[in-house]
Amino acid sequence: MHQSSDRVIRVGDVDAPPGQIQFGGIICAYLPDATPIKIPLIVVNGAREGPVLLVTAALHGIEIGGIEVIRQLTREVVNPQQLRGAIVAAPILNPFAYHAARMNTPQDEYNLNRVFPGGPDQLLSHRLADLIVSQIVVEADYLIDFHSNVTPAIPFVIVRRTDPPMFEKCCKMADAFGVTTVEMSQQLEQHRTGSMSDWALAHNIPSIAVELIDTRRLNPAAIKMGVRGVLNVMKALDMLDGKLEEQVELPVRKGHLTRMEITANKGGLVHPAKNAGDSVAKGEVLATLFDPYGDMVDEIKSPVNGFVLAYPLRESQAVATGNMIVFLAFDPGQRS
Ligand SMILES: [Zn+2]
Repeated sequence: MHQSSDRVIRVGDVDAPPGQIQFGGIICAYLPDATPIKIPLIVVNGAREGPVLLVTAALHGIEIGGIEVIRQLTREVVNPQQLRGAIVAAPILNPFAYHAARMNTPQDEYNLNRVFPGGPDQLLSHRLADLIVSQIVVEADYLIDFHSNVTPAIPFVIVRRTDPPMFEKCCKMADAFGVTTVEMSQQLEQHRTGSMSDWALAHNIPSIAVELIDTRRLNPAAIKMGVRGVLNVMKALDMLDGKLEEQVELPVRKGHLTRMEITANKGGLVHPAKNAGDSVAKGEVLATLFDPYGDMVDEIKSPVNGFVLAYPLRESQAVATGNMIVFLAFDPGQRS
């Protein structure tokens, strides 16, 4: 992405002058029959000057809610004549995972959001990551990356701890978005490195990741919150006029919160003991696991006072050792 002095935004094969919406894409790879595959791009370039907000979705191929958020924002809600700055939208960042209705890239089985910054001469996921950051994310002023959790879940925004001025900018975006915000702690979730947000933050681009609810489906309540959230961020960044609107469709928990994931020690069928958004006390049962004979094999108790963000039982409600069972949010002050 590049913005010239006459404020034309060029990204992939899109050339968007001020005051216009333009569509196109960027060829990212070829199929075995030589068919080129594009990452689609939409640019809404505002009539007036302001920051460039990049909005991305479907980095994980089954997390499709953000695609509809982008459609409503760019095609129905935002008028380029009233916009200060621009929206650059990439509704499908991993077309291969999207084609296959899979979370990960089927060609190499990598989770694309763990291989950033990637590389231009490696496997497909690495090449995608390299192209995404070097041609799309670069020169964005802000980034909102949409994901989705399987239900039951409540929507939430993830911020990553960085140096204080950058962290403050990310928190300002998250606060404006208006759903529950959790800080991702590397100590609690050590396997989550190499994300696009990590790259953006390292390159001075304030960014948030939004977890809507429902994979493989367009959840109307979550999508409404997604659209309102982006509009709120744009208002907070002075890209649009108007007051920030409250998020009302699904539960929202306020406060400075950290996320913790609970993974299975045993294996079995998971019976959740709570609903998404429920409060939970330290020691309270979050879920029970049953074996095929009907005997309870494990009882998972909360290590903290907090509440349930999601039961991220991604593949199946039957889990093996190490599979994720619960995302909790809690005030980190209680553990220090
Ligand atoms: Zn995701």
